[in-house]
Amino acid sequence: MSEIYFDNAATTKTSESAAKVAFDVMTSFYGNPSSAHAKGLEAEHILKKARAQVLSALGYTAKDGTLLFTSCGTESNNTVFFGVYQALGKRKNNIVISDSEHPSVENCARELEKKGVQVRRIPTKGGKLELDFAEKAIDDKTMLVSCMLVNNETGAVYDIKALDSIRKRKAPEAYLHTDAVQGFCKLPCSLSALGADFVSISGHKIHAPKGVGGLFIKKGVRLPCRMFGGGQEVGLRSGTENLAGIAAFGTSCEEFMHEKQKILNTIKELNSELRKNLYEICPYVLINSKDEAAPHILSISVPGIRSEIMLRFLSERGIFVSAGSACSSKNADNRVLSNFGLDDKRADSTLRISFSKYNTKDETLTLAKAIDEGNKSLIHTV
Ligand code: PLP
Repeated sequence: MSEIYFDNAATTKTSESAAKVAFDVMTSFYGNPSSAHAKGLEAEHILKKARAQVLSALGYTAKDGTLLFTSCGTESNNTVFFGVYQALGKRKNNIVISDSEHPSVENCARELEKKGVQVRRIPTKGGKLELDFAEKAIDDKTMLVSCMLVNNETGAVYDIKALDSIRKRKAPEAYLHTDAVQGFCKLPCSLSALGADFVSISGHKIHAPKGVGGLFIKKGVRLPCRMFGGGQEVGLRSGTENLAGIAAFGTSCEEFMHEKQKILNTIKELNSELRKNLYEICPYVLINSKDEAAPHILSISVPGIRSEIMLRFLSERGIFVSAGSACSSKNADNRVLSNFGLDDKRADSTLRISFSKYNTKDETLTLAKAIDEGNKSLIHTV
């Protein structure tokens, strides 16, 4: 059975060149970047090159700040939340986030809430960040403003730059963080585009292997060390670097940047082709993502059919999509879709289809036909 993979917001296939670089590092350039001999220097050079490649894909240079390699986007987000709390928690008492953050941000906020920090959540109904709320919520006691760039369930794009201006006016001492895991390489992330002090990214969303992520830290911004040891990664994250993953991440960034316009065009075309096919073949399907959402994520609802049931039906036919967000689907709640404005029934029948450069228009047709087949044969329970 051939496979159709439409779950690229959960993770992507590692590109062949990224996999090859990882293999070469593991088998030939396996030195420890901290070793003083030639093999170590060779490894250090690989590490430096990858850091420059990732920074460049973000739209930064080493002058703008540091790129810290982490194990994933979740670690990057945790590093910011607990680092900022450690630095400012005694003088400030609140953080401001959006009400539709990924669990790796939302659950950090809940942990800080247990320590007495007030968490103020900006509504995001209809995929729009309510800036009037942010204006009132951010004050001189705010330590951190954190908002994702692209929502992983709906593709909604949030206005980080607008948050930056509010934070500069109302809370100049507060840090601004964006979880750009879903926006990286697809939307501008530079200092002028976002104005953030911290930007979290993850390799496996852009065809690097799993197990490597990054955190951009703006020049002059200091985070306390939370992993003590040999002092790697500017003293913030000790431990021998995942050089194979890091080198592959650098390669996948360079590759993505090289083909960027082509990839973005392909993804846009796939999105409109699927919308057209759904409209023609299954007109009862409801489209949740707004037209202005990031095109690699399309949220839809098939009225009456629970997401998990349709997901399994499609999976048995070799078509892989997600029910809401793959990262939270095991303990699914409808927090994000409900805050977006969907009622429980519609949220319970929501599927997330997410595209990559490896998808084709024919696959969108196969998916629409399979959804229609499922709609005809599955029992409607929602
Ligand atoms: N933030 C967002 C918006 C995500 O979509 C994800 C993963 O799907 C993460 C953070 C977590 O990234 P990672 O899987 O690299 O920990």
